[in-house]
Amino acid sequence: MSEAAGEKRRTGDRLAELGKRRGFFFPSFESYGGVAGLYTYGPNGAALKRHLEDAWRDRFTVKEGNFEIHAPTVTPKPVLDASGHTDAFDDMLIECGECGETHRADHLVEDATELEDAESVPPEEMAGLIEDHDIRCPECGASLVDRPVESFNLMFETAIGPGDSTPGFLRPETAQSIFVEFPRLAEYARSELPFGVTQIGPGYRNEISPRRGLVRVREFGMAELELFVDPARNEPPLSSVAAVQLRLYPIDAQAADGKSYRNVTVEEALERNIIQNQWVAYYVGLARQWYDRIGIDPDRLRFRQHQAGERAHYATDCWDAEVEIDGAWIEIAGLAHRGCYDLAKHDEHADDDYTVFRPYDEPVTVERATVAPDMGQLGPTFGEQAPAVVDALEELVSTEPEAFEGESVAVTVDDTELEIPVEHTGFSRETVRETGERIMPEVIEPSFGIDRTVYTILAHNLKQDVVDGEERTYLALPSELAPTFVAVFPLMDRDGLGERARSVAADLRAAGFEVAYDDSGNIGRRYRRQDEVGTPFCVTIDYDTLEDGTVTIRDRDTTAQERVAIDALPGTLRALGNGDRTLQG
Ligand code: AMP
Repeated sequence: MSEAAGEKRRTGDRLAELGKRRGFFFPSFESYGGVAGLYTYGPNGAALKRHLEDAWRDRFTVKEGNFEIHAPTVTPKPVLDASGHTDAFDDMLIECGECGETHRADHLVEDATELEDAESVPPEEMAGLIEDHDIRCPECGASLVDRPVESFNLMFETAIGPGDSTPGFLRPETAQSIFVEFPRLAEYARSELPFGVTQIGPGYRNEISPRRGLVRVREFGMAELELFVDPARNEPPLSSVAAVQLRLYPIDAQAADGKSYRNVTVEEALERNIIQNQWVAYYVGLARQWYDRIGIDPDRLRFRQHQAGERAHYATDCWDAEVEIDGAWIEIAGLAHRGCYDLAKHDEHADDDYTVFRPYDEPVTVERATVAPDMGQLGPTFGEQAPAVVDALEELVSTEPEAFEGESVAVTVDDTELEIPVEHTGFSRETVRETGERIMPEVIEPSFGIDRTVYTILAHNLKQDVVDGEERTYLALPSELAPTFVAVFPLMDRDGLGERARSVAADLRAAGFEVAYDDSGNIGRRYRRQDEVGTPFCVTIDYDTLEDGTVTIRDRDTTAQERVAIDALPGTLRALGNGDRTLQG
């Protein structure tokens, strides 16, 4: 439908069409009927995604001095039992009694009400909301009132090896594979806090109802940073982001009428206690700066704080980066304070120690009470209970050493109080010099969804204008992300122009540029093709090139053109790409 008719095509529809036609992304396995929530990136999409991951790596790994790892995606069940995912990584599912279609109950409620965070509504209240708003199946229109709302675990289950003796899951997030290796990673970081570990790779979630192109899929790229900090000693380098402008949407603003934002700098957000944790504020600031770099429209970006009930089972505070596309706000990253949750869980369930040694400023001398139970006495007296008696004595001496000051000490084993002569416990006090203590670091986690970010970059940069009286569509991608950096065209493929253009293209490739070569159709059409896939610069070889060795460079956004010498081409293109120079057309 044309815009003139007053109907604007949804960006989502335009992207789905462009994605297929120009090789950005398209539904996978369509020749076998397709599978909802699985997408293939074509050549342009794969290049854009790779460049985006490189830009993330540059900012959150390299520039922050963090380490990147690469772990398996298949994860044994005990790891995800410990992390809480087998129990709590659920969404609320409702199935239509008429057509059998499954839906996310919280999404149906959000669509039918003003609620923005129905995820935080307890499942037992969900049925009531469905009844109050007479919610119907979006597929067939049948009433969903009285249909059961069930918890559905989102993890894909698998078996590791033949048989089913070692159950496993495809990881639902990259984070656990970092936490579980903490003891080794801490050793690698020489146990010096803070240190950060990043990972870019796929996560898998068996979403109940995949939707909106790349927004809700079942296999998606994640870029996660787990930063391990000592809350008492480490502070972020706040000055580098203090002046960054944020549009914050804290819990109290979400509850108030009018849903107003707090437009503040990072520094003000902390001063006014809108964001409480300095590290979280630091990463919100860094994310905002990075979103500018990768071409996300700042006017369609906000940071929304999670409501208490909406937070993941591990988070103590969380802010989502959300972007607007077609009138809906979509989460593209979560910046969470995970506290000690994950390390404490693995410390409890795994064989290793998930703490680090924190040296004191000065060594301290402390008195320590210990026991060395005399089994020659306890064994015959308590028989099979003797090991439990030893455990009870060790526990008591660490919490209540004064209990050992009399002739005998009382411990409770199997609900029975037992009196043990202190001389059989080997109780003693000694003075030791301690140089530090073991602490469990807190974790700050910026977690970015790659596919949603790719989708947003496309949505926010898909533009239309009129050039030479003709409407054109172009993707105003930052040069760093564009699938192709420069396209080389001969004016036409004759009189040696083609050979010259092919050699210019080859030289530019050798110099490290991603280059497209195109000699089909008129120049105007070739420009449009490159504009539509976001190529920032086109270079044309014409008859003057053969005379004076100059070529025309043309800028995608302004369409300005300038002649430069071929020898100067690599340097000029680099300067244009970095934004150090613009074309004087
Ligand atoms: P979460 O661990 O749920 O906070 O997810 C981290 C990030 O992964 C989110 O901010 C999204 O960008 C992305 N993400 C989560 N679920 C999906 C999905 N089903 N499809 C695409 N991206 C997702």
